[in-house]
This record gives sequence, structure tokens and C-alpha cells, in this order.
Amino acid sequence: MKRIDGNGKRDCDTGICRVRKMRRLRRRRRRLTLLIFLVLLIPAGVTVLYLNLFPVFLKNRAAGNETAGRLGVIGNVRPGFRKKTGEFFKKQEDTLKETELTQVKAGKDTGITGTEARKEKVVYLTFDDGPSANTEKVLDILKKENVKATFFVTGNNPKYNHLMKRAKEEGHAIGLHTYTHDYSKVYSSEEAYFDDLQNISDLVEKVTGEKTKILRFPGGSSNLVSAKYTKGIMSSLTKRVKEKGYQYFDWNCDSTDAAGNNVPVERLVKNASSGQGEQINVLMHDTDAKDTTVEALPQIIKSYRSRGYVFQALTEKSFAPRHKVNN
Ligand SMILES: [Zn+2]
Repeated sequence: MKRIDGNGKRDCDTGICRVRKMRRLRRRRRRLTLLIFLVLLIPAGVTVLYLNLFPVFLKNRAAGNETAGRLGVIGNVRPGFRKKTGEFFKKQEDTLKETELTQVKAGKDTGITGTEARKEKVVYLTFDDGPSANTEKVLDILKKENVKATFFVTGNNPKYNHLMKRAKEEGHAIGLHTYTHDYSKVYSSEEAYFDDLQNISDLVEKVTGEKTKILRFPGGSSNLVSAKYTKGIMSSLTKRVKEKGYQYFDWNCDSTDAAGNNVPVERLVKNASSGQGEQINVLMHDTDAKDTTVEALPQIIKSYRSRGYVFQALTEKSFAPRHKVNN
């Protein structure tokens, strides 16, 4: 029962009233605790988030700018926040193709990729699977046009090995492709891969007088054919070659001359010239069967030149496009 005491305050003297009063007090205490908790915790949380995420944001912003530069995205790119993964990202990055992003991200993890000083837009013309009789024709065109390129060579055609030396002397880069180019051997085990790599490395050193540390995997790092022989081999090889001091290169523009022999010249010109962005690595082949590649080459050079590109041979420090490893 409630009553008013002499000071005008309500007082309790019955059990029920006292219990209610206690409950009220407990409720008030709980509310107060919650309020203090919120007042202290929210700013603390915000501070922690800020300290942790702001450097990530800055880092991503820098990476985004680099990506934008490499992939030819022009203008300021606003950052966003990906709720699902909690990552900051660049809005325009989102619109780029998955492979392009993979290339750039993978390329960054070596720490030496793309560090070469560069003022102009660059195209790296690359020729795989030579040397052959066509390599001579390719070299003649490159010389006439004053263009530097890269040859990822094999040991399949010893008759033309001297062309590696000529290419080197004329300022082109020689890269390792494979000695045999026989997938069933090269990808039969990691040991077999490195044996094959050593063979082609020794051959290049013997012919040109210099070791080379740049390479391109047969079929590229994204190839699936290797899965037929050894599961997971590319995931391992892509790491191991880096540990051994090699730099591997995929491509970000495919001439599609590997689609068959005598792919029409117009198609090759169109595809090989389709590269966009600041650094383009064009995949071509200089085997005996690739006559139309030789025919298309002057027009491909003309196309890039008219768009303000310069031609460079690859070095260990050049931009290295990287495909997503699938095996
Ligand atoms: Zn090849």
C-alpha cells in the first residue's frame, strides 16, 4: 500500500510495493548501463573501423588508379564499398572483365611487375613457338618498321636456332616457352616441367650467349590441358617459377592465329589490333604454318602506331598480364 510520508514523498511499506519499486530501479539501472555502453561503444567502434579500413581504402584507391591506368580507364574513379566481402573497390573496376582484373591483381603480387619507367602507351608484340622460316620474315618486317618484339621460343626447329641470336642482336627479347611443346611430357609432373624449362634455357643461353628469365607457359597459365596430365600443376608452377626468379607472361590481346592455320589476314589484323589500355601484350605465333600472321603484321603495327603506341621488347620489369589459373 502506498502512502505519502511527512516529506511529501511516496513510500512503500508493503511487500508488493517494494518488489515493484525494486523492479523499477533495476529497469532504470539496465537502461542507464545500456546508454553508457552505447555512448562509449559507438565512437570506439567507429574509431577502430576508421583506423583499420582507412589505410585499406587508401591502398585500394592507389591500386585502383594503377588499374585504371593500366587498363585505359580514363578519369577519376569513385570508390565504393562491397557489403558482401567488406572490401572497398573502384566502381569502374567492377565493370572491367574478370580476366583483366585477375591479370592486374595477379601481376601486382610479384612486386616487380610493371615497375619499368614508362611515359607512353606500350604494345608488346609476342611470338610463340618459333623459331621457324617465318621468324626470318617477321624479323625483316620488324627491322623495316623499327619495332621491338619478344619471341617465346621452343627447341623444336634446330635448323632455325640461329634466328634467336639474330633476334637478340636486333634488340628483341628472347623468352622461354618450352623445349618440346609436348603437353603430355611438359605437364606430366612438376619435375618434367622444370627439366623441359632447363633444356630450353640452356639452348637459349648457348645460342644467344645470355640467360633469360622471362617465360610463357605452353598454353598460358590458364590452360586446362595440363589438368589431363597433372591435377593442380599450374597452381604450383605459377608460384614455383617466381620463386626460381622467373617472370611469366600471359597476354591481354589474342591475335587468334592459334585457332588454325591460315586464319584470314583481315581477321588477324582486327583481333591483334583490338587491344585497349596503356599496356598491351599481343599473342602471335611464328611457326612455319603461320603465313597469314606474317602477312598481317605490317597492318597490326600500323594500327597501334596510328593510335600513339610505342613498341617494346619485354623485360623482367614489364607489365605482365596474368590469366586466372584454372588447374
Ligand atoms: Zn606455344
